[in-house]
Amino acid sequence: MFDSVRMRLTLWYTGLLAVFLATLALITYFIFWQSTLQRTDSDLDELSEAFLTTVQAEMADSYGPEAAKLAVREAIVEHRFRDHVFAVFDPAGNILTSSREVPSDTSSPDLFSSHSLRDLREAANRPDHHVGNVQEGRMRYRGVARKFILKGQPYTLVILRSLHWQNEMLGEVRATFGWVIPIAIVLASFGGYFLARKSLGPVMAMSVQAGRISADNLHDRLPIQNAKDELGRLAASFNALLERVDQSFERQRQFMSDASHELRTPAAILRGESEVALSRTERSVEEYRESLAVLHAEALRLTQIVEDLFTLTRADAGQYPLAPHDFYLDELVAECTHAARSLASAKQIALSCEVPEELPICGDEALLRRLFLNLLDNAIKYTPDGGRVTVSCERLGAEYAMSVTDSGPGIPTEIQRRVFERFFRADKARTRVDTDGGGAGLGLSIARWIAEAHQGRLILARSDSTGSTFTALLPAPVAVALPAQPLTR
Ligand code: ADP
Repeated sequence: MFDSVRMRLTLWYTGLLAVFLATLALITYFIFWQSTLQRTDSDLDELSEAFLTTVQAEMADSYGPEAAKLAVREAIVEHRFRDHVFAVFDPAGNILTSSREVPSDTSSPDLFSSHSLRDLREAANRPDHHVGNVQEGRMRYRGVARKFILKGQPYTLVILRSLHWQNEMLGEVRATFGWVIPIAIVLASFGGYFLARKSLGPVMAMSVQAGRISADNLHDRLPIQNAKDELGRLAASFNALLERVDQSFERQRQFMSDASHELRTPAAILRGESEVALSRTERSVEEYRESLAVLHAEALRLTQIVEDLFTLTRADAGQYPLAPHDFYLDELVAECTHAARSLASAKQIALSCEVPEELPICGDEALLRRLFLNLLDNAIKYTPDGGRVTVSCERLGAEYAMSVTDSGPGIPTEIQRRVFERFFRADKARTRVDTDGGGAGLGLSIARWIAEAHQGRLILARSDSTGSTFTALLPAPVAVALPAQPLTR
């Protein structure tokens, strides 16, 4: 039951509402009780004032205790109310007269001899405390006691007002709260459950819809009713997540299909060539050599593709470990250029290298060598015989710019931004037929990843009918750090 958010919300809501209503009821009851008491006290004050004025008026021309008794009786008759008890005590503390009969048997409990009434009479001596509660059995009174002087003699007036009606009224208020609050809580809990159900309804719908989405229907999206509210934003975020997963799935699918396509060709050549070699029993050594050369070339190509794929897969998973150390980039460029000379001279390509200064760097030398060789290999591969390839490396502000420029046919503008995509080849047929062991379209993807793994970039700086320039921009170390750790060459 508590596993349901709806239920938990409802319980929380009901619990908080119950606490709130109970507190509100208590405060209201207290305020009501206080104001009733205050009104009773002020009524008693006014009544005692009026009573004493009447007594004084009655006594204006009379003298003696009997006259006082008479005057008090007159005043009682004039001011008597059904739920009020009047009593006047003489200077000796005995009852002069009262609106209620004084019992002759003094041993029985009586209102006038109760402790609480005595306390009230004593309080009349203090100017600020002449109002209080008086108890007689189960009856409760609110009383006022006042001292007054009649013809030089001190008397005490006590007026008691039964709290019966107030208590009944307060009891009714309590009883009303007693049934109104539980009903309100029950109704509110139903309302809370309904609201929670209504507001969580779209979440349920989203979860059902999300549950239906699998690898086969990743294009499906959650419906958005109001894009601006919280649920709309949640659905939008979920849809954006699906979009990314979908794209990633799509890339993965494409990668798998491209990879298998690339692997299928050399595998087919290997099979075909070996079948041909085995099919004839009589073959010359020369023919076997030729077949083996083809098999060897395709095996090399296959190995290269598998290695490239492995590199990219590990790079994607963030599992390719970089092994950075300090070395000189200008030396690496010179070495690579030297290694590529035989490749260039086979096509009568003039290969030149321009590295004007020492360029210390901290990076993975093997990966940066691979990056540079990929660029160099492409430049030689795509430049026609007798062309020119220039290599340069220089510091540009906070970066090293390592460029390879060729005099090849250039890359058509419309596909320039696609050359870094995996398995992309401008002209697949031509690449395979015209070049020696044409690439699988992974070289530039790997080169770009290597540059980015070094917090750098690889860009196609220029490409037109006169040739192309690929530039790798790598962050150069801060100049002041160099003298502290001199590199050995
Ligand atoms: P490949 O192994 O096919 O060379 P790359 O990723 O290295 O794969 O290059 C992708 C494509 O970009 C190549 O097939 C080619 O069409 C184009 N390309 C790369 N370098 C050059 C260049 N220097 N001149 C012309 N086209 C190039």
